[in-house]
Amino acid sequence: MAQTRKVIILGSGSAGLTAAIYAARAQLHPIVIAGSQRGGQLTMTTDVENFPGFPEGVQGPELMEMVRRQAERFEVDFIDDDASAVNFKTQPFQVTAAGETLSADAVIIATGAATNWLGLPNEQRLIGHGVSSCAPCDAFFFRGKEVAVVGGGDSAMEEALVLTKFATRVTIIHRRDQFRASKIMAERALNHGKVAVRWHTAVEDVLGDDKVTGLRLRDLKAGESEDFRVDGLFVAIGHHPNTELFRGQVDLDAAGYVRLHEHTMTNVRGVFAAGDVHDHRYRQAVTAAAWGCMAAMDVERYLEGH
Ligand code: NAP
Repeated sequence: MAQTRKVIILGSGSAGLTAAIYAARAQLHPIVIAGSQRGGQLTMTTDVENFPGFPEGVQGPELMEMVRRQAERFEVDFIDDDASAVNFKTQPFQVTAAGETLSADAVIIATGAATNWLGLPNEQRLIGHGVSSCAPCDAFFFRGKEVAVVGGGDSAMEEALVLTKFATRVTIIHRRDQFRASKIMAERALNHGKVAVRWHTAVEDVLGDDKVTGLRLRDLKAGESEDFRVDGLFVAIGHHPNTELFRGQVDLDAAGYVRLHEHTMTNVRGVFAAGDVHDHRYRQAVTAAAWGCMAAMDVERYLEGH
């Protein structure tokens, strides 16, 4: 076996890198399996205006590059590849990445979550240019503009309500004629003067060259398509945690999120989780960073008593 470590951190988003900084400063010499999308979800955003310490805001990718450089100041090693296998049934635990199997006394799972996108031809190209999946992050940029939210769950209602603070009109586009959202959230959205709903409607594509100018909508009852003018599209059709690799290794909930058992520890003693991979409630860069800090501190305590 090539290497044995005190701790392996899986993931290099806000949670993973913060865990790395704390673990390194506790002299645990962590190795971070950074994943092929190094930097995590923030690398998919543009302006970040709600991360404390940046009065003028900061670009998401730049912020994550800075956090990585901060981790590199200490003794942190990186493998910029995805982990391909884990085995938490043996002690020390085993993690395979880049063709190498590493072993460690503790593991922090910080592989995050991913937005479910619609898969439209022009959707990915316009992310950050009018297409978003985070109203608390991006609503501010739509002051005085018209936006659409797609989805019918609590997330869609919440996104729509956040957007009403800035946009002049918020249209919720939903594929059925009934929301899945809780009654209270649905009523709050439906009763808001700025919110309109297009029922049984699908988004076929996002229109615009360098920024969103509209949507191609399809009325699923009439079977007709039309162009609909908006400045932004917020996709709120759910998220999925990046936990495929851990199925059968740690306890996951019905939606696939890692379940925490004792503070940040999973049901496997020595395996911890931090950030969006278990936290589907807050899903913020700053909360993920906090989870990363907590997990590293818990690892330190665990290893002391190990
Ligand atoms: P969700 O409840 O699964 O709702 C997803 C919505 O997106 C559904 O309305 C679904 O339509 C629609 N959808 C899914 N795939 C689609 C597609 N390809 N095209 C068009 N529409 C699509 O997800 P969520 O709203 O993110 O909520 C996830 C969980 O977090 C829920 O348990 C929710 O209660 C919770 N949450 C709670 C709060 C809160 O309490 N404040 C806020 C946010 C989320 P159908 O209805 O037709 O299936």
